[in-house]
Amino acid sequence: MKFDSLIKGGIVVLPGHGPVRADLGCRAGRIAAIADDLSTASSDDVVDARGLYVFPGAVDSHFHVGIYRPHAEDARSESLSAVSGGVTTLISYFRTGHHYLNKTGPYREIFPEVLELSKGNFHTDYGYHIAPMTTAQLDEIPWLVEQGVASFKYYMFYKALTLSADSTKGKDYTMADEYDLGHLYEIMVRVAEASRRTGRRISLSLHCENPEIIRVFIQRVKAAGLTGLQAYSEGRPPLSERLSIQEAGVLADETSCPVNFLHLSSRKAIEAGVDVRTRHPEMDITIETTLHHLALTWATAGDLRSKVNPPIRTQDDQDALWRALMKGQIDTVVSDHACCMEENKKGDTWSALPGFGGTSLLYPVLLSEGVHKRGLPLERVVDLLSTTPARRFGLFPRKGAIAIGSDADFALIDLEKEQAVTVENSHSAQDHTPFAGKSLKGWPVATVLRGRLAFKDGTAVGDRRGAFVARPV
Ligand SMILES: [Zn+2]
Repeated sequence: MKFDSLIKGGIVVLPGHGPVRADLGCRAGRIAAIADDLSTASSDDVVDARGLYVFPGAVDSHFHVGIYRPHAEDARSESLSAVSGGVTTLISYFRTGHHYLNKTGPYREIFPEVLELSKGNFHTDYGYHIAPMTTAQLDEIPWLVEQGVASFKYYMFYKALTLSADSTKGKDYTMADEYDLGHLYEIMVRVAEASRRTGRRISLSLHCENPEIIRVFIQRVKAAGLTGLQAYSEGRPPLSERLSIQEAGVLADETSCPVNFLHLSSRKAIEAGVDVRTRHPEMDITIETTLHHLALTWATAGDLRSKVNPPIRTQDDQDALWRALMKGQIDTVVSDHACCMEENKKGDTWSALPGFGGTSLLYPVLLSEGVHKRGLPLERVVDLLSTTPARRFGLFPRKGAIAIGSDADFALIDLEKEQAVTVENSHSAQDHTPFAGKSLKGWPVATVLRGRLAFKDGTAVGDRRGAFVARPV
């Protein structure tokens, strides 16, 4: 039996099972054989995995390509950062309005443009979540599902922009008309309907922060004269997440809409997410957190370059996230990667742009802080970074699995490699990183996309082969 390539001599971390000594034979981009010993003569392309753990490629299901920089350029540089860290599929959020392509209009015109800007520019496979911002875009949801969009987004805190005294400025930002809980209800009805019609999980992702609470807490923090990351966290307090999750939970229950609570950052947020799930066991809920909320606190994250929404929190919040993760209450860990240059972080506490990159650190953070420090089993890392995001976002079993017929996407990892994070080893265009100097143990040393090396020894291998994946697969 001949293979296009062979991953030889590694310890394969099988999803749902754990580490097993095995070789992997790949053909036509897919896994064709899993065996304890495949002959090196069976392929002309043998990847030596001796001493390494072979994980499925990570599915980074929360990414922002092109939010602050030109789309194609950002796709090239930031998907390189992703593939350097063992990510083989990323799903990026896109919306009309300010930032991104800085315009509004029908997705029937704008989505093909996004796909055109993406073509040939990704080192990883990729997909898009789409945010219906205007009333007119609501009716495009069924069409978007036909185009391979299996997940949508609503931002709970943008409501303030249409409610603020200076409503023209708000509407300039979202380029939306009625962006409120009514609009959210209308999205949920349509997403739930698409889910029923297709018999597949079509879901709505929610950025859960409440704008009215943020408004008065920012006033309080400003009056107290506070600035910096602590002030930013207190100005957008965990209460705002808690309230917003409960509001979204009520509407999701009413509409039977599958939902994803994004980037829960605090003890109160996790408790609220778990509460909604416990009270409504029939609801379809994904609870997501980020690697930066697991790895940083406002006391350790430095200056405003680490500003992000929701904010970096306290040690107590971080401890609560880890407890929830170890108990299995958190389903996915993502980067929420948004390349944001240092010059965009120059304003004050309130005007500096939010967001930063971190996709290359998904495996290192979970292996170092989870496996080595807390005894998290390797197969749980696979669940959190690959299998569960693939299942929840319509990619499974093509992605997120190490099984015959699945895409041959792998992260080859040296569990004992220890090094500090630097701008250089992040392989991103971003000229700073909030994780700089943080020492982590457990690093990807090579990444395989559909059977062929895509990254090795600190550099990309071959052409950019990333392709759009229409979901559900
Ligand atoms: Zn995000």
